[in-house]
Amino acid sequence: METVTHEELIAWDKAHVWHPFTPMKQYIASEPVVIRRGRGVKLEDIHGNWYYDGTSSIWLNVHGHAVPEIDAAVRAQLEQVAHTTLLGQANVSSIVLARRLVEVAPEGLSRVFYSDSGATAVEIALKMAIQFWANQGRREKRYILGFTNNYHGDTLGAVSVAPDPLFHWPFLDLLPEHPRVPYPYPYRSPYSDPERCMQASLEAVEAVLRERGHEIAAVIVEPVEGAGGIIPAPEGFLRGLRALCDRYEVLLIVDEVATGFGRTGRMFACEAEGVTPDLLCLGKGITGGYLPLAATLTTERVFEAFLGEVEERKTFFHGHSYTGNPLGCAAALASLELLKRLLPKLPAKAARLKEWLDPLAQHPFVGEVRQAGFMVGIEIVADKATKRSFPYGAEVGYVVARHARARGLLVRPIGGVMIFMPPLAASEVELEEMTAILRAAFTDALPELEA
Ligand code: PLP
Repeated sequence: METVTHEELIAWDKAHVWHPFTPMKQYIASEPVVIRRGRGVKLEDIHGNWYYDGTSSIWLNVHGHAVPEIDAAVRAQLEQVAHTTLLGQANVSSIVLARRLVEVAPEGLSRVFYSDSGATAVEIALKMAIQFWANQGRREKRYILGFTNNYHGDTLGAVSVAPDPLFHWPFLDLLPEHPRVPYPYPYRSPYSDPERCMQASLEAVEAVLRERGHEIAAVIVEPVEGAGGIIPAPEGFLRGLRALCDRYEVLLIVDEVATGFGRTGRMFACEAEGVTPDLLCLGKGITGGYLPLAATLTTERVFEAFLGEVEERKTFFHGHSYTGNPLGCAAALASLELLKRLLPKLPAKAARLKEWLDPLAQHPFVGEVRQAGFMVGIEIVADKATKRSFPYGAEVGYVVARHARARGLLVRPIGGVMIFMPPLAASEVELEEMTAILRAAFTDALPELEA
């Protein structure tokens, strides 16, 4: 690449790059971190400062960076072909990956539809669910029941099932009004007992399905609410949803874009409850953070509803130019092999992580520390007794993140919740150091939080 000075890089970034999900006015006024390389669980900026990647580069880099096995797999694929379409033809690595995904997925999922991002994996699931019923003459089944505060991506379909009034206000009146019910969030529910909170949520689902099941195509859910603040659903929630979906003839879509590929300590969160959804959305960690790839998995039952004569118009007419990209599939295959070896080590590491994070609960502005394996959410509150949040715009999470960065850890909060998503391959020593920095950053932030 041409030689560009550090000053030019920063100036050109601010002049030309429109960053995702970023208030740009504030970003342009800030001192951004410009990364030039990654090694293991660390990233180096253009000035030579190294940081722990405490977000796994936004929840993707399961094995960290510059992973020799994935590097080699991508190079080997480059020697063959970088891209070729799946439209009416196939490619080797996407076939092998589909087979390997089916082998590790919850039993009964046998068909893989590729796309490029979590949001597209969700779009595909939503469209498949609606067309599944339409193909059987049930066009009235076209609504999707979702959960408040769940997040499924930023395309309009994904937003329509999880519209956030703060972020999506210009689009709200354009979107179909899909029903939504509260996700079990014991910390902020009238029912602090997780079991009771979960029951309340399942009862709300049942009430909607009882009344409107005839017009509902599917329920969509995150097993752990990710971007909503790392809120693990109590044990039994997915099983309860599966039973309700079966009872009211509705499909179950589980969005494991964030939780998939080891994040919760298992390959997929569905496994913990022995649940097979009708549609499973995968993305993020699928390639170990190497290339944009996503997949929507489904069952033979769903797939068969799309078979028919051409004039019956049952085909799923959906696709993207990069669907099944061979480089992405090769990276995913290598990542999956590494992950299989890593998985048995995760429960012990997650338990140590908990020990190091527990002291944070004593911090005067920490309301709750939530953890599901390697997904951690630390809820920052203005008042512990009343659980009152800081007002919107106070950006308290960013205050803590700034201190963490100064100490060598990159983390990104969402609203008032500090999110910590270390690479699964981080060693115990690295995890201990990252959590020590996080604790110190919360202490450093105290004067600003008190102000
Ligand atoms: N679904 C879930 C549960 C997510 O957490 C995300 C992203 O954070 C998405 C979907 C959207 O994924 P992407 O950003 O790759 O489009």
